[in-house]
Amino acid sequence: MAARGANGVSQGRSGDDGQVTDHYDVIIVGTGAGGGTLAHTLAPSGKRILLLERGNYLPREKDNWDPPQVFIDGRYISKDTWYDADGKPFQPQVHYFVGGATKMYGAALYRLRPGDFGEIRHADGPSPAWPLSYDEFEPWYTKAEWLYQVHGVHGDDPTEGHWSRQYPWPPVSNEPRIQEIFDSLRQGGYQPFPAPCGILLNEANRPASTCIRCNTCDGFPCLVHAKSDAEVIAVRPILDRENVTLLVDAEVERLETDQSGSSVTGVVVSRGGGRETYSADVVAVCAGAANSARILLRSASGRHPAGLANGSDQVGRNYMFHNSNAVVALDKQPNDTVFQKTMALNDFYFAGDGREWPLGNIQMIGKSNWAAMKGEEPKLTKLAPRFALEEVARHAVDFWLTTEDVPKPGNRVTVDRDGNVHLAYRQTNDAEADGLYQELRKILNHVGLAAHHVLQKNFYMNMAIPIAGVAHQAGTCRFGTDPATSVLDVTCRAHEVDNLYVVDTSFMPSIGAVNPALTAMANAIRVGEHLLQRMA
Ligand SMILES: Cc1cc2nc3c(=O)[nH]c(=O)nc-3n(C[C@H](O)[C@H](O)[C@H](O)COP(=O)(O)OP(=O)(O)OC[C@H]3O[C@@H](n4cnc5c(N)ncnc54)[C@H](O)[C@@H]3O)c2cc1C
Repeated sequence: MAARGANGVSQGRSGDDGQVTDHYDVIIVGTGAGGGTLAHTLAPSGKRILLLERGNYLPREKDNWDPPQVFIDGRYISKDTWYDADGKPFQPQVHYFVGGATKMYGAALYRLRPGDFGEIRHADGPSPAWPLSYDEFEPWYTKAEWLYQVHGVHGDDPTEGHWSRQYPWPPVSNEPRIQEIFDSLRQGGYQPFPAPCGILLNEANRPASTCIRCNTCDGFPCLVHAKSDAEVIAVRPILDRENVTLLVDAEVERLETDQSGSSVTGVVVSRGGGRETYSADVVAVCAGAANSARILLRSASGRHPAGLANGSDQVGRNYMFHNSNAVVALDKQPNDTVFQKTMALNDFYFAGDGREWPLGNIQMIGKSNWAAMKGEEPKLTKLAPRFALEEVARHAVDFWLTTEDVPKPGNRVTVDRDGNVHLAYRQTNDAEADGLYQELRKILNHVGLAAHHVLQKNFYMNMAIPIAGVAHQAGTCRFGTDPATSVLDVTCRAHEVDNLYVVDTSFMPSIGAVNPALTAMANAIRVGEHLLQRMA
């Protein structure tokens, strides 16, 4: 078995090319929201688990909190090159680290609404129903909220479904300017609620990991490990177990099957300049929506000519993102808020009240900083001196608008002969996104930001090509009951391959209009519990 090194990081064992070097009960590919949480669920069982992670640990360094390093130099963005539908290269905003994209995420940990589990009519087509209901899924949302130490309060958002247990921690309090906006909205008949937040504010037993509310959640790694990311919450705590092995800088290239094609027999890994093959009773691919599809498509064989588990031709299709906009309102007064993302509003989430279409979710995001503005909108800010951008950021009140993107078969990931990702994508529901923006403008007028100037920007993106902002990618291996139209069954097992599971945001048949990570985490716990039963 592979040896464990400092930090609990396994050193692994070099294998002979093409030879299986070790057999495990479970291999998990990727350590993000899906893979990390799955490993955490399985680890106490004592089953031998091998985690294969393409990246390494994200270094804890001063640059973690340095806006120019993070937003202008893109220090933590992978060097990957992907290609759009016209073959034009772009650098996707993906993050290959232990913890995956959660190392950089904003830790806004929302549940989907019950309605999201049913079919919803949208301007650009239907958002399909899930094969299980919100009520069936609910227990795992609760478990994920407790595992990830979410701050919030159930019961204040009229669109939310039932909950079996309150959040483990009370909501993060609004700072004065946000509280003013909150109160003004309530007085105006709106229904704002405290945003669910995955930060470690109450870690009395781990003071070194206590959040200092520094405004560096969204888009930054957390230097003091006080953000509830998958590395801190799920992966690190299991690494001292004898039955858990983590190999970093270990990129899974493809999966091999037995002759019948119904069972994965080898996981081929590129590591340290060589190639190793591992095997397991169960293989869970959790590499993120685009990369999980990539691995399956690269695993084409005689039995699976279009890619592993792709008899339905659905692998890679129905790629979804979100139709999102960050809107910066400029207040007349400086906005001294530090930790801003404490409030959200779902008043326009569904159709009704005179709205033909669902519009989506409005939430606050991390406070603007000059480097983010420069990095994300280089054309707009090219000539602006730093002090001018700093002044803009000082007066900024920052909102994040999310409209659902509906699945389209033509929005898809494919791979070329060299294994490069090609992403064909056209955003949906622009009319709804515009409707949400118009509602926000009314809100801004109502809360006294009437003299505002509004900047619209695509916050997660600092590249010219919109599809490069892949932060909320989902949907490339959707689950369902019909093998002709889905890749995975309801347990997230591939219809065509008995021991293959996909456990990241790929499984989602629709993405709703709230951030996807909590749903990936809850689903990973759900699939983990299924696997424990299966392996028992
Ligand atoms: C800047 C930013 C802000 C965000 N903010 C929020 C937020 O506030 N709330 C929210 O809900 N969501 C947010 N998200 C999205 C959220 O982080 C993702 O939805 C979530 O992490 C997806 O989980 P996943 O398991 O599908 O993929 P990931 O978490 O990305 O994990 C995939 C893992 O697989 C590894 N991997 C990839 N390919 C291979 C391979 N071939 N071999 C081995 N390993 C591989 C990767 O390195 C990674 O560790 C944000 C994302 C970003 C980038």
